[in-house]
Amino acid sequence: MASGAAAGFALAAGSMLDARGARAAQMTFAVMHSDQEWKKMLTADQFAILRQAATERPFTSPLLEEHRHGVFSCAGCKQDAFSSTTKFESHTGWPSFWAPIAKTAVATLDDKSLGMDRTEVRCSRCGGHLGHVFDDGPKPTGLRYCMNGIALTFRPTPA
Ligand SMILES: [Zn+2]
Repeated sequence: MASGAAAGFALAAGSMLDARGARAAQMTFAVMHSDQEWKKMLTADQFAILRQAATERPFTSPLLEEHRHGVFSCAGCKQDAFSSTTKFESHTGWPSFWAPIAKTAVATLDDKSLGMDRTEVRCSRCGGHLGHVFDDGPKPTGLRYCMNGIALTFRPTPA
């Protein structure tokens, strides 16, 4: 059996990844799995978003209505990504935050797909696609982290 890393790279290179996916596949993360392994660990929707940078349909995430105090974590590797203290109502249909829980929690990449110039947000631990960040958010940062609810899990914590 070839090493897991080599097999994973071959799978990633051979699959139908767009430029973003290919670039992310070449990056090194603390948590890395082959597409086949991710497919076993994630639901089909989670795989499409986290590993293939798909976007969930707006106004479909139960996390839109999640108003408890708590932490939103990457659904791929469980790393904490956002706190309820930075969540706000963006009325876009996607869970929105004005900052990640820590600067090191997310990685950003230029995304010029679909004829747009956007900044993609990925989990810094597993490279999973979480969403995009825009500069039309509220104070104090002016940023709007527009996230796919399917890419996140919520865990309530004491206020
Ligand atoms: Zn992750």
